[in-house]
Amino acid sequence: MRFCIYLLLLPALVSGCARVHAHPPIAPLAGQLRPAAPAALYHTVEKGQTFYRIAKQYGVDAKELMRVNHVEDPSTLEVGQRLLIPGLVPSLLLYPAAQPLPEMNRGEIRRRVGPKQDFSVWKTITLHHSATRQGSAKLFDRDHTRRHMGGLFYHFVLGNGTYTDDGEVEVGWRWKRQIKANRPYDIQICLVGDFNKQQVSEAQFASLVTLIELLMDQYHISPNAIRKHEDIKGKHTECPGRNFPFYRLLSELKRHSDLENRHA
Ligand SMILES: [Zn+2]
Repeated sequence: MRFCIYLLLLPALVSGCARVHAHPPIAPLAGQLRPAAPAALYHTVEKGQTFYRIAKQYGVDAKELMRVNHVEDPSTLEVGQRLLIPGLVPSLLLYPAAQPLPEMNRGEIRRRVGPKQDFSVWKTITLHHSATRQGSAKLFDRDHTRRHMGGLFYHFVLGNGTYTDDGEVEVGWRWKRQIKANRPYDIQICLVGDFNKQQVSEAQFASLVTLIELLMDQYHISPNAIRKHEDIKGKHTECPGRNFPFYRLLSELKRHSDLENRHA
C-alpha cells in the first residue's frame, strides 16, 4: 500500500530544480547578516570576471563594490587585481566552524568520488536543490530521462534521509564517466530538499563541505568558483533556495583553502 502511495506521488516529488523558473530576484542572504561597518576581505580578480559577477557572488552591490575600491570605470578591472569586498567578513565570522564529519564518513565520500582523474578538467561547482521534499539519484535520473535530459543531470546527489540517508553522497553516472552536464568544466551538486521551505540538515551540510573540499583539492578549484545555480548569468531561478546557507558554506571553504595554502 505504501508503495502505491509513493507511485502516485512520484510526478510531484521528482520535478527537480530545472523547473523552478521566473521568480523575481531575491535579496541575498548576506544582506540580512551584513553589519553596518565595512570590514576587510579581499577578492583577487580572475580571468573573465566582471564587477557585476564578483558583486553577485558575494551578495554585495556592484556600485558599492566599485565605490569602496575607488573605481569609476568598471572596464579597468584587471586579472590579479585585489578588490575589497565590503561588509562580508563579520558575517562570515558569525559562523563557527562546522563539526567535521567522522573519518569513517569522510573516507566513504573519498571512496565514492574516487581518485583524481588526470585527464579531466573541472573548474567550477554549481549548487542545486531538488526543489522537492524527497528524492534520490535514482528518482531524479528517471525523471530527467523522462524529460529528455539524457538522464541524471547532476554529478552528485546528497540525500536528506527520505530515499537515502541524511547526508549520503550518491555519485551519478556522469561523474563515473567524467561527462559534463550542461556546461563544460562545471560540476553539478544537488541537495535533496526544497530550501525555499526547508533547511539544509547538518548532515547534508557536513557532507557537502567534505565533498567540495575534496573536489577543490583534487581539481584545484578555488572557493571563488563555487556558485549557486541562480548565480549563473541568465538563469531565472531561486535554486538552491532562499534558505540555502551559501555564506556559511563559503566561510567553511575559505577556512579550508587558507589552511591548504598555508601548508603548501
Ligand atoms: Zn538548480
